[in-house]
Amino acid sequence: MNSNTHFVANNSGAVVSTNIAAVEELTINWHVTEACNYRCQYCYAKWTSRPNPRELFHDPVRTRSLLTELFRFFHSGNRSNPLHQQLSWNTLRLNLAGGEPSILGDRLLEIVHAAREVGFRVSIISNGSRLTPLAIEQLAPHLTSLGISLDSAAPATNRKIGRIDGKGRLLDIKELVENLQLARQINPQLAVKLNTVVNQRNVREDLCQLADQIRPDRWKILRMLPVVDHSLAVSDDEFSAFVERHRDFESVQCVEDNHDMCESYLMVDPFGRFFQNQPSLNLAYVYSEPVLSAGAERAFCELAFNTDSFQSRYTNGVVGGKQ
Ligand code: SF4
Repeated sequence: MNSNTHFVANNSGAVVSTNIAAVEELTINWHVTEACNYRCQYCYAKWTSRPNPRELFHDPVRTRSLLTELFRFFHSGNRSNPLHQQLSWNTLRLNLAGGEPSILGDRLLEIVHAAREVGFRVSIISNGSRLTPLAIEQLAPHLTSLGISLDSAAPATNRKIGRIDGKGRLLDIKELVENLQLARQINPQLAVKLNTVVNQRNVREDLCQLADQIRPDRWKILRMLPVVDHSLAVSDDEFSAFVERHRDFESVQCVEDNHDMCESYLMVDPFGRFFQNQPSLNLAYVYSEPVLSAGAERAFCELAFNTDSFQSRYTNGVVGGKQ
């Protein structure tokens, strides 16, 4: 942590900074489900294709209430949000993540519609496996960005990582490229992003050809966070070599080492609680009370949020505001 690092202590606003950074967009990541059809070894998601029936997305009324409360609290005009003491922003984006959000089927589209009606800009991060041409046609007009998590183009590597569904199906890269082209045709403003988790299985691969095909507007290269599985962790040198191998894409690259990921994302879990990974707890997750019972303000104030990491993600060109 550098000496300029600011924490909103328990997000309560107890620490007041004179340096208020300005970012264009604030992003709230709602992990709509813990379920996923893939089985990545390094992932914390529950390895089941069936979402927990208690996850909030099942209930359209409670889903809308959650979105409305989050928008009310994080809207740029709500000066009572303690985050405003250190950060200013104009627009608010809801990023729908998982688990795998596309396994929600039609509910995902309904949530996108509801979020748009509430006032959010909306993005999705997906493993791409269920993004059929029909799903793309329905979703793309409403999104500002579509992120695909992609670790390798090699079937053997994807199999080893666990990027394979219960029926043994792998992502078809050719279909993915075509579907992303379709998404861009439908919505020329759409930013297409890639997320690659660098781990022991893919650390020696060259993904330039894959990136050439997809032409991502942003390529986030993340060092695997050893929360769930330590055996796939990569060393500093291995991670640097991977980044260096893909220098041709430097202009769109956003590199996140482990420390960049801690306490720097605004994250809501499938049950409507804020959550974060904390270095002081060996990167374990901590959770707030549910937003719907406590209110966004009280729940938010229970967790720490590192505004410096968040600012650098946005203002140093790390992701260019496209998380
Ligand atoms: S695709 Fe994403 S959510 Fe699914 S298991 Fe892999 S990392 Fe986890």
